[in-house]
Amino acid sequence: MTDTRIKTYWQNYIGGRWIDAAEGGRIAIENPATGEQIAEVARATRADVDLAVAAARARFKARTLIDMRPMTRGRMVLEIGRQMELLADEIALVECLDNGKTLGGAKNEAMAASRYFTYYGGATDKLEGRMIPLGAGYVDYTVPAPFGVSAQIVPWNFPLQIAARSVACALATGNCVVLKSPELSPLSCYFIAEACERAGVPAGAVNILCGYGHDCGAALASHPDIDHIVFTGSVKTGQNILRAAAERVLPCIMELGGKSAGIVFPDADLDQVTASTAAGIFSNAGQVCSAQSRLVVHRKVHAEMVERIAAKAASLSIGPGIEGKDIGPLISGPQLDKVEAFCLAAEQQGAQAVSGGRRLGGPGHFMQPTVFAGVTPDMTIAREEVFGPVLAIQIFDDPEQAIELANGTEYGLCAGVYTKDLRTAHWAADRLVAGQVFVNEWFAGGVETPFGGTKRSGYGREKGQEALLNYVQTKNIGIRLDSGAGGRPGG
Ligand code: NAD
Repeated sequence: MTDTRIKTYWQNYIGGRWIDAAEGGRIAIENPATGEQIAEVARATRADVDLAVAAARARFKARTLIDMRPMTRGRMVLEIGRQMELLADEIALVECLDNGKTLGGAKNEAMAASRYFTYYGGATDKLEGRMIPLGAGYVDYTVPAPFGVSAQIVPWNFPLQIAARSVACALATGNCVVLKSPELSPLSCYFIAEACERAGVPAGAVNILCGYGHDCGAALASHPDIDHIVFTGSVKTGQNILRAAAERVLPCIMELGGKSAGIVFPDADLDQVTASTAAGIFSNAGQVCSAQSRLVVHRKVHAEMVERIAAKAASLSIGPGIEGKDIGPLISGPQLDKVEAFCLAAEQQGAQAVSGGRRLGGPGHFMQPTVFAGVTPDMTIAREEVFGPVLAIQIFDDPEQAIELANGTEYGLCAGVYTKDLRTAHWAADRLVAGQVFVNEWFAGGVETPFGGTKRSGYGREKGQEALLNYVQTKNIGIRLDSGAGGRPGG
């Protein structure tokens, strides 16, 4: 069975052509809200990766993007953004059925993806080198040079936005791209290829294919002719990719997992904390790397906070995104099993589920929004990434202890502070080990703000102007103008 509202078979986009998999295989794509198959995609394997890398290499060698006037390259990237916007409603329906998001959420995804192209399209002609003074007789300058073929591997939770931010940065800086979309929800990424085609992006500059991680992903990461890797996904896969990258000494951007905590100081606005926490842990059913999966609360306001958040969780509607519910499905049956197992283990280790804790019966992969109180730092639920709608609440008595608890995991992606006192906010922000700190609103930021991890959450930055620096390497050019220092021009 397939879903007639959308295209039922999707091909890979390689060298400017839509093609079947070299070995003819396909991957069945399921709607996580119903468990039913909605489409099939061509299953790329090593042979398709070879083709895609060769197409990207040929385009890079031809210098098409590098030799364009930056303004022209910028216009091309801006046009991709415009095309993405024109496709937004179509993308939203596909993403809703393929990924489980609400229609509104999926439309926001499409618009955010479009915005990455407009943001980086506007930056294309603003990437500048430096002149370095060496004294009379010399000219020395730096050039921000692209790496070449950027291999990009994307996870299933926000495939479109994550792909868009990396592809946009790569094109803006003159790189060519081979992107592997996630096998669990690949469909929205094809629209980037569609938008590139419509925008007249030269064939081979952007190649998008779908395959399983263990064959297609591994073949891409270990391919002898790539120059750069952008990986977003789990720590374990990231480590495998880093091992492959080490063989060829490739630069990598690693956007990995998180176990981020918000600290609630006693003067915080508790209405604000409740709303921000609900958004921080329950949006996209908690399948967000930067989710606020822990709340570290001062003892004075702890009881009230637990009560408020449990009530908020219990009030949320659960169901298919297409029906506009608050909480959609998890991506797959195995993901639901994993999340529920984390909850069972938390209870066994002594945490109290003050809301939720179990899956919903029936079709689809739905998990109740869950809040655990009485969580101590040794518990698995305090340390490991669940990647579901599950919040762990910890308690603190003094500010140093709050920082220690918040920093007390192997991860360091995001952190938060809730307080009305700016001194407290700065004090805590200085001490939190994280790539991004939110004060009084989880997810405060956007396309413009640099994002990335510390510790096991990875390294390198995506988003904002900062990200561009990860897609270029500085080349220094030193010129001796004459045979003697300080000589006058001849003639
Ligand atoms: P995953 O690591 O299982 O898969 C991510 C991608 O890697 C998929 O496309 C997969 O096919 C591919 N892959 C799997 N094995 C591979 C291999 N051996 N070689 C090459 N590629 C391989 O992660 P997931 O389950 O899809 O996503 C969830 C994880 O991603 C979570 O840990 C989450 O925190 C993280 N994530 C991080 C960010 C961020 O920006 N920091 C954003 C979203 C998700």
